[in-house]
Amino acid sequence: MLGHVDHGKTSLTKALTGKWTDTHSEEIKRGISIRLGYADTNIYFCQKCNWHSLSEKCPKCGGKGVLKRRVSFLDAPGHETLMTTVLSASSIMDGALLLIAANEACPQPQTAEHLMILNIAKIKNIVVVQTKIDLVTKEQAKAHYNSIKEFLKGSVAENAPIIPVVANYGINVDAVVDAIERTIPTPKRDASLPPLMLVSRSFDINRPGAQINTLKGGVLGGSLVQGTIRKGEKVLIRPGMETPKKGVKEIECKVESLMCEGGPLEAAAPGGLIAVGTSLDPDITKADTMAGCVIGRPGAMPETKADLSFEYHLLERADFDNPPLKVAEPIVINVNTATGIGVVANMKKGIALVKLKKPLCAAPGSTVALSRRVGQRWRLAGWGKTV
Ligand code: ZN
Repeated sequence: MLGHVDHGKTSLTKALTGKWTDTHSEEIKRGISIRLGYADTNIYFCQKCNWHSLSEKCPKCGGKGVLKRRVSFLDAPGHETLMTTVLSASSIMDGALLLIAANEACPQPQTAEHLMILNIAKIKNIVVVQTKIDLVTKEQAKAHYNSIKEFLKGSVAENAPIIPVVANYGINVDAVVDAIERTIPTPKRDASLPPLMLVSRSFDINRPGAQINTLKGGVLGGSLVQGTIRKGEKVLIRPGMETPKKGVKEIECKVESLMCEGGPLEAAAPGGLIAVGTSLDPDITKADTMAGCVIGRPGAMPETKADLSFEYHLLERADFDNPPLKVAEPIVINVNTATGIGVVANMKKGIALVKLKKPLCAAPGSTVALSRRVGQRWRLAGWGKTV
C-alpha cells in the first residue's frame, strides 16, 4: 500500500479490511502478535455477476459468493521506511496498490518516489487507486485521471487499472477488490523448495508470573518466501542469538506450533504473516530480539556473513544530494527483514563491500536497500543485489 502522505491509505485499508494494523486487544487475547502493518481480508467471487467483493453476499445480485483468496496488506509508517521496506522486502510482496488523491496535483513528490521504487523492485502487478474524488468536481476528477495516466507512462504501472474511490463511504471499494483479483494473481510457488522464512518480529508470549509447567517457547513472526514449514519439524535460525563470548551463534529448534491470523495451522505456505511457536527459551525471543533472522532447514539455507558484497546503484532523490559512496562511510543496509549497520570497506566496478557490526543472513541475489546519513537522518540513498 503506497502513496503520498494523507492520500488515504488508512481509510482504504479500513474499507478493505475493516481495521487497521495495531489491534492491541486482539493481540492480548490471542497471545501472539499479528501487527507489523499487516491487515488481512477475504475476497469472494460471484459467478453470476463475474464480480469480486469483500462479502460472501454479492453486493450486485445478493447471491452467495465463494471464498476466492485471503490477502494481506502491508504498510509501513513514514515515507522513508515505506520505500526501504518495499525494496528490501519485495520478495514477500505479490503486488502493490498505489494511492493518488484527486484533490492534489499529480504527481506529488512522494508519489513520484514510490513509483520509482516500484520500478526498481520490479513490482509489476499494480492497482492504482484515485482517492478522495468526493472532494473534487466530476470534470476535475476526469482531468486528474488523465494526469495520472500521463504520470504512469513508461513505468511498470503504465497499464495498471486506475480505480476512483471514496474510501470513507465505501464507494467503489468493490471495484478495487475486483481489480486486485484481476491484476495481482497469486504467484505460482515451487512447493519442492526447502522452507525459508523471514523473521520480522519475535516475542515471549508468557505472562509475568506464569508457572513453569505452563510456559510456552519463544515465538517468531514473519513471512515464508518459499517452501512449506510444518509443525514438528527441526529448523535452523540464522544468524541466531547474540552470546556474550562467542558473538552471534546460530540456533536449532523445533516448530511446536504454527499460527496465522485465521487460526492455528499444521503447515504454512508463502503469503501473509505467520507466527511460529518454537522449543526455544522465550527469553531468547523476547522484544523482537530475533527480528531480521532467517528460518530454514539445516543444510539448505543461506550463509551468515559479516562482510557483505552487493552491486549497487544510487537513487536520484528529490530533496538531497546523493554523491557516490566513500570508503569508510557509515551506512545502514536493509535486506529482507534484517537491518545492518556497517562501513563501506571497498568499492570496485559497481560492487560495494560493507563490513557489518553484526552479521546477517541473506541469499545471493537478495535486494539491498542502502541508507546513508544526510544531516541528522538516515535517508534511502541506493539499492542493489547481494553477490
Ligand atoms: Zn452477484
